[in-house]
Amino acid sequence: MTPKGKFLTLEGVDGAGKSTHLEWMAEYLRAQDIHVLLTREPGGTPLGERLREILLAEPMHLETETLLMFAARCEHLRTVIEPALARGTWVVCDRFTDATYAYQGAGRELGVDRVTALQKWVHPDLEPDRTWLFDLDLGIARERLAASRDLDRFEREGAEFFTRTRGGYHQLVTQSPERFMVVDASQSITAIREDLKADLEQLVARWQERTT
Ligand code: ADP
Ligand code: MG
Repeated sequence: MTPKGKFLTLEGVDGAGKSTHLEWMAEYLRAQDIHVLLTREPGGTPLGERLREILLAEPMHLETETLLMFAARCEHLRTVIEPALARGTWVVCDRFTDATYAYQGAGRELGVDRVTALQKWVHPDLEPDRTWLFDLDLGIARERLAASRDLDRFEREGAEFFTRTRGGYHQLVTQSPERFMVVDASQSITAIREDLKADLEQLVARWQERTT
C-alpha cells in the first residue's frame, strides 16, 4: 500500500544543527493543518530508546552496532512510523537509514553493500520523501558540540571518522539528488529556518491535497 502520509528526515554529522530545527518544523506543518509525528533514531519507541542508550555509551563490534541500529529501526518502523504514515500523518524523523550508510557504512568503513543488505531486509520499499542534509564544516560542528553538551560515543570520534561520514552523506546526495536538500548549516539559525521554510512551503503545496 502506498503510504498516505509523508516521511521527512533530517541528517548530518553530530553538531550540524538538526535537533535545533525539529520542533519548529513540526509546528510549521501543524500550522498548515497537517498531522505531524516528531521522532528520532535510534529511538522513537521504548525499546528503541533503550537501544539508543546502549548504542551511544557501550563500545561494541561494528557489526553488532549496525544490527542494533537496524533492530531499533525495525521496531520504530513497525510500531510507529508505518502506522502513522498509513493514517496520513507526516513523520518528521531526526536521522534514519541514511545515517547508517554515513556512520557505519562510510565512517566506520563497513561498506555500502552490507548496509544495503539490511535496508532491503527491514524496509525494502520505504524511503524518505524528503531529506534535509545539514552540511557543516567539521571544525565548526566540533566547536558547537563542545560548547553544548557532554559528548556521546559517536561524538567523541576523531576528524577522520567525521570526514568519512560527511563524505558518505555526500555520496547519498549524489545518488538521490531529488530526495535531498543540502542545507548550508554554517548560516545563522534564522537564515537556515528561512531556507527550510521555503522548501516546506513548496512541499506542502505539492503534497497536501493528496493527503487531506
Ligand atoms: P545536531 O542535532 O545536528 O547534533 P544540535 O541541533 O544539537 O545539532 O546543535 C548543536 C549545537 O549547536 C547546539 O548547542 C545548538 O544550539 C548549536 N547550533 C545549532 N544550530 C546553530 C547555528 N546555525 N549557529 C550556531 N549554533 C548553532
Ligand atoms: Mg541532535
